[in-house]
Amino acid sequence: MPCQSSDELNILVKEAREYTKEGKVANYIPALGRANPHDLSIAIQYPDGQCISAGDIERKISLQSISKVISLALVLMDRGSNYVFERVGMEPTGDPFNSIAKLETLSPAKPLNPMINAGALVVTHMIKGNSIEDRFQRLLSFIREMANDSTIDYCEDVAQSEFKTAYLNRALCYFLKQHHIIEEDVEKLIDLYTKQCAIEMNCLELARIGMIFAMDGVDLESGKQIIPVHISRICKTFMVTCGMYNASGEFAIKIGIPAKSGVSGGIMGAVPGKFGIGIFGPALDEKGNSVAGIKLLELLSRNYKLSMF
Ligand code: GLU
Repeated sequence: MPCQSSDELNILVKEAREYTKEGKVANYIPALGRANPHDLSIAIQYPDGQCISAGDIERKISLQSISKVISLALVLMDRGSNYVFERVGMEPTGDPFNSIAKLETLSPAKPLNPMINAGALVVTHMIKGNSIEDRFQRLLSFIREMANDSTIDYCEDVAQSEFKTAYLNRALCYFLKQHHIIEEDVEKLIDLYTKQCAIEMNCLELARIGMIFAMDGVDLESGKQIIPVHISRICKTFMVTCGMYNASGEFAIKIGIPAKSGVSGGIMGAVPGKFGIGIFGPALDEKGNSVAGIKLLELLSRNYKLSMF
């Protein structure tokens, strides 16, 4: 029986909040360094519209790497899987999310998967549109539709802060440009990518997006198939194999829920056929995952038997 009340969630948040002390907020993007490390919030969104939540739920987070699953869904819809997987692979790496190492040793030099930065930059490169603004607006509309909130936007401060400091991401782009996997102007692509990562929302909206993936792309409230079933399945599979950085294997064993995290401390979970989860807890462990967020998911998965395996 899944968790039914916000009171039950409050108890779990209280227990997990203790673990925020063990992590640190990301500060390589200066604007993220201003988050309060003790924040922790969770929302669970059921397909019938019921939502339960606990913690600092009004707090907004930037999606950061969580956006990579959503841009992948859009690009698969735009271009089809053959086109996309000719340019980015399907295998986990075991390396940190921003590593450049494998690009040099692989031939062809295509990124191993769309959840690491190199792969995500290629995915963002493939978003269709006539200009950077047009491509960004297409991604934003898609996100607004899934979250059912037309006011969602990006945080200019976070986008600017990353744009000014994204030297490693620029290096990845130039490497990929040399190998003709990226064909556009790098500064423009970094502009689009940093805006994508800076799209912000609270954990209730994040849980609603997780629910769309959980329900095979269908929004039961509107009756609309927002993402085709086979694309939603691809996204969930990447969430299992590569969604939690190079801790994805351990996460699959201990928790067993398709999930994607970001360096802002967000985690989006999709419990197949059941519900979506949105978590925000900015204190990160050494792999880049929300330390208390992982604890919270561990408690949830154990108490309510949520592992899909
Ligand atoms: N915008 C961040 C970067 O590219 C996202 C990283 C993440 O959340 O894993 O470094």
